[in-house]
Amino acid sequence: MTCRGPRPCNISTISHRWIGLRRRTDSVTTTACAVAYAEIARVDPSIGSSILVHSCLATLLIAQHGSEKQKQNYIPLLARLDMISTCKGAPGLRVAKIENKVALRIVQNGDVMFDNVFVPDEDKLPSLTSFQGFVEALSFARIMVAWVSIGVAMGVYDLCNRYVTERKQFGVPLAAFQLTQAKLVRMLGNIQAMFLTGWRLCKLHESGKMTTGHASMGKAWITLRARETVALGRELLGGNGILTDFLVAKAFCDMEPIYSYEGTYEINCLITGREITGIASFKPPTLKKRSFL
Ligand SMILES: Cc1cc2nc3c(=O)[nH]c(=O)nc-3n(C[C@H](O)[C@H](O)[C@H](O)COP(=O)(O)OP(=O)(O)OC[C@H]3O[C@@H](n4cnc5c(N)ncnc54)[C@H](O)[C@@H]3O)c2cc1C
Repeated sequence: MTCRGPRPCNISTISHRWIGLRRRTDSVTTTACAVAYAEIARVDPSIGSSILVHSCLATLLIAQHGSEKQKQNYIPLLARLDMISTCKGAPGLRVAKIENKVALRIVQNGDVMFDNVFVPDEDKLPSLTSFQGFVEALSFARIMVAWVSIGVAMGVYDLCNRYVTERKQFGVPLAAFQLTQAKLVRMLGNIQAMFLTGWRLCKLHESGKMTTGHASMGKAWITLRARETVALGRELLGGNGILTDFLVAKAFCDMEPIYSYEGTYEINCLITGREITGIASFKPPTLKKRSFL
């Protein structure tokens, strides 16, 4: 798959190029990376999500924290998709396929269980010594998840805009009704606002000024608006909005896990809330014994 730009580039390498594994002149900015993810998700959120996890979490962590040998061994293979990031077999590691998902159905998710897993020294990422090291990759991934949801919303808007001009009721296309137009405008307004917020996040990241609170607020707010946008799109299609034959229903379902993965709406709000108030509210206050008076 290629993305448009001054030079064609393989989409699986975009994050790796961003992290500067290649010559500086060949690197891709955060903004370019984000727009590429949005364009993939505009067509298929499952593929967008798969490439995102493969590139932004697995490969990025090796690039940022791996030894030179690990980078040489894995990154070219991962970048060409000759190797897919996945759990390698190890004693104590168990992976069970999660069945019966209603969304992102071509993505195979696993329940991963660790029981005294032995990790040989050559598989450890030398400079990843705390969870904090992982937070930087997570924040980058959160920007990209936000852009995946912008892509999903744009894809639904495209489909709806076409559908309402083709389907006729009461002798006119649905697009002729004022209430239909109002929904389209709400969707487009959301997309514009999501786009600008996502663009600002990318610029903050590129200038080294983005905090974890920025990334979390961006992911939470943009996915919330995207969820509203795809719900409006589903409404616009009436009964056809729940049929798999029409891709709006698929995107409507796919938006749900995107709203929840890479930090749920609530947890991302709490991360930003902690940053702006200085108070962590992840755990409730200690419960006091109830009085029976
Ligand atoms: C398609 C998909 C792919 C995923 N990929 C990965 C992956 O690659 N790696 C990975 O590690 N995980 C992955 N996840 C897991 C995902 O990150 C979790 O589902 C998510 O973090 C929520 O955790 P949970 O499902 O355990 O829900 P729970 O923790 O049980 O939460 C249920 C609800 O309670 C809310 N809640 C929980 N705690 C609080 C609190 N303190 N305050 C307020 N509300 C709270 C949550 O926001 C949520 O709405 C994936 C999930 C999906 C659906």
